[in-house]
Amino acid sequence: MATYVYDFAEGNKDLKDLLGGKGANLAEMTRMGLPVPPGFTITTEACRAYLRTGSVPAGLFAEVQEHLHLVEARMQKNLGDPRDPLLLSVRSGGKFSMPGMMETILDIGLTDSSVVGLAAQSGDERFAWDSYRRLIQMFGRTVFGVPGEEFESELAAVRAGAGAASDAELPVAQLQDLVQAYKKVFHAHTGRDFPQAPHEQLFLAITSVFQSWNAERAVLYRRQERIPQDLGTAVNVMAMVFGNRGPDSGTGVAFTRDPATGRRGAYGDYLSNAQGEDVVAGIRNTVGLHELAKLDPPSYRQLLSVMERLEQRYRDLCDIEFTIERGKLWMLQTRVGKRTAAAAFVIAAQLVDEGTITLDEALQRVSGEQLAQLMFPSFDTSAAPTPLTTGVPASPGAAVGAIVFDSAHAAAADRPVILVRPETNPDDLPGMIAAQGILTSRGGKTSHAAVVARGMGKTCVCGADELRIDLATETVTVNGTVLHAGDVLSLDGTTGRVYLGAVPVHPSPVVRYFEGELAPANDPLLAAVQRLMTHADHVRRLGVHANADTGADAARARRFGASGVGLCRTEHMFLGERRELVERLIVADDDTERDAALTALLPLQRADFVELFEAMDGLPVTVRLIDPPLHEFLPALEDLTARVARAEALGLDPGHDAVLLAAVRRMHEANPMLGLRGVRLGLVIPGLFAMQVRAIAEAAALRVAAGGDPRPEIMVPLVGAVQELETVRTEAESVLHSIDGIPRIRIGTMIEVPRAALTAGEIAHAAEFFSFGTNDLTQMTWGFSRDDVEGAFFGRYLALGIFAASPFETIDSGGVGELVRIAVERGRAARPDLTVGVCGEHGGDPASVRFFHRAGLDYVSCSPFRVPVARLEAGRAAC
Ligand code: PEP
Ligand code: MG
Repeated sequence: MATYVYDFAEGNKDLKDLLGGKGANLAEMTRMGLPVPPGFTITTEACRAYLRTGSVPAGLFAEVQEHLHLVEARMQKNLGDPRDPLLLSVRSGGKFSMPGMMETILDIGLTDSSVVGLAAQSGDERFAWDSYRRLIQMFGRTVFGVPGEEFESELAAVRAGAGAASDAELPVAQLQDLVQAYKKVFHAHTGRDFPQAPHEQLFLAITSVFQSWNAERAVLYRRQERIPQDLGTAVNVMAMVFGNRGPDSGTGVAFTRDPATGRRGAYGDYLSNAQGEDVVAGIRNTVGLHELAKLDPPSYRQLLSVMERLEQRYRDLCDIEFTIERGKLWMLQTRVGKRTAAAAFVIAAQLVDEGTITLDEALQRVSGEQLAQLMFPSFDTSAAPTPLTTGVPASPGAAVGAIVFDSAHAAAADRPVILVRPETNPDDLPGMIAAQGILTSRGGKTSHAAVVARGMGKTCVCGADELRIDLATETVTVNGTVLHAGDVLSLDGTTGRVYLGAVPVHPSPVVRYFEGELAPANDPLLAAVQRLMTHADHVRRLGVHANADTGADAARARRFGASGVGLCRTEHMFLGERRELVERLIVADDDTERDAALTALLPLQRADFVELFEAMDGLPVTVRLIDPPLHEFLPALEDLTARVARAEALGLDPGHDAVLLAAVRRMHEANPMLGLRGVRLGLVIPGLFAMQVRAIAEAAALRVAAGGDPRPEIMVPLVGAVQELETVRTEAESVLHSIDGIPRIRIGTMIEVPRAALTAGEIAHAAEFFSFGTNDLTQMTWGFSRDDVEGAFFGRYLALGIFAASPFETIDSGGVGELVRIAVERGRAARPDLTVGVCGEHGGDPASVRFFHRAGLDYVSCSPFRVPVARLEAGRAAC
């Protein structure tokens, strides 16, 4: 029979698939001899079996019983014993952390009789009855779906009746009344009494944790975070310890380094005389961890030493949840902690300095996504705007948007918004996803808002306690100023400052460092970025080129570390005032007119290439011959028709418009993306490609004459058959032979039509290099129009899990990727020294860069801004 239950002492930190992150780490701490309350973990396998069949696997509860006996023996108490009850917590815990998404139930084992035993044993009647009412509330909400507000309104009524300002002031008699009221609420909603059998409570709680895996908000969170939907959760059952047993008790969350900046030193929030969930929920304002040093010096010292041991064991920043019960420290959870992008770089470099990890490992501790985040702009506060208020800087960035007070408005907004809430809970997730930033009036750096926002890379300021948020009237008052929904705020997630109106934003220091404007000197972040980028460049096998059409773009790409231009889209050089020349070319109906148009275009193209070759002097520049459908250069059919009709109605000669109209009609295509583009154009319009080849060669000759080192390459787009390429090649070679003083210019092709990938072995005979055009290759492999689908149905496809990310953003490795692999293999078999790169959007996408590394490409090419991201990911892929 399968084993579904592991005692904490049986697992270890590497068993996350089976025990979930929380369970594996509780096991590791138990093995380390740290003070973890006794308990056990029910495996994700049991959850998956439950989700598959709809019932708890046979034998599971018998196993739970056995492990419970061990806990009871260790605690020397029995679950729900009326004289001295053992109480349990039941918590979810999947392989990947999903903060606040799934269920937790505390105080399992309290019943009408055991509450009396707890009161007698603890000598604290208030505490016992308060725990009991918390259980009914949590259990009712979680296991039976009783609306939370019903309990809240009973609590408010009892509090008002007793004249108590807070729950903590409620006397025992009122807590007892509250228990009765809660039991009535429970009965009214469930049609049954609150379960008085402790084991039934436990089994129901376990089952409801299994079910919570498929709660709507959990599904949404996983989709957002790209966590597979079929993993299931483990369930951790642990002896309860209490942080709400008086002033010598409390609960807290701690980090072994600052998760916002990476600065060294213990860091966290502490709430005295409170139960665990109170801190994470951000319901009461916490004090800094250093306060614990004054409140309870021995526990503080012990905590620091536990944290040091955990860092050594995990070799990384850890976060910790702990509880102190009457001066005794208990560890309730640890894990490798989430951190901001900046902290990730700083900590990785620190750990190298401390001799804890190698540079190769340090590269695995950061990601291209994080680097991209650091390249976002922040506020320009040179005009010294006065902050409206200041809160806790919970997640960095600069967000500007209009105030919305709830998730629905945030999700429905058609302009940037800031979600303003007293605190957030998992129901606010859709709004948090939609908003530019999140502002709360309660909670610290470990509140729900903070943790979730950091995970998403979203700007967040929390605990801005000067804000008076009135959700009923949709107003927020701060120091006498009243703001309404729609008023614009600027949130600085790095400083915690909140400004009224839109503050201008300025470029990120990391971008300025790449631009060569800032030296890393005394800035720990820039120094860390420099160090890790240098190592990535050292280990990576993939080259990184840029897609650039102008000298300025190429120069920037070079500053960002590109070692060439992988794609210059020459059609971008035909826009603006040159469009008229292209128009002349298209409507020309004899060779003389066509030649005149081409002759006029030639010097313009040549000048563009001179600029580009100069900016990339000494490095390859792959110039792609013109690609888009020619009708894009002509006026729209409707406009022209109207113009000609108007002229005719007035008895005027429509003149040139009539010629144009005939051309537009002639060129009209129902599917232009599958029509006259790329190589097909070159084969249909005589002289067009020859003019471009001449412009490239003459520009190169000019650069050579000026002492430069131009390295152009000519790339033919949209080839599907080797014969197309051979025809263009013959024409191009004859032009190249006619021009003196030029370097050798290689001729290659894009691989962006499935047929080209499949016949790559033949095509390679005529191509010195391949560059995958994965935009078109994706479009044509899936049959998705790249210009239309994203809005039309991708949302639905993502929701259905047909793909986890748009295949236009992240390479579809199973389909499009397979064509890439085939083409690389067949191309190289025919021509072993074939250079192979990619220049579709995927060239700058972190996951795709790793795929291209594995597929054996020589380089990726992406937009200049993504060059650093591609360099980093190429380095990560190589080690
Ligand atoms: C491609 O198709 O991937 C490509 C780079 O070409 P374009 O985007 O210009 O069609
Ligand atoms: Mg293309």
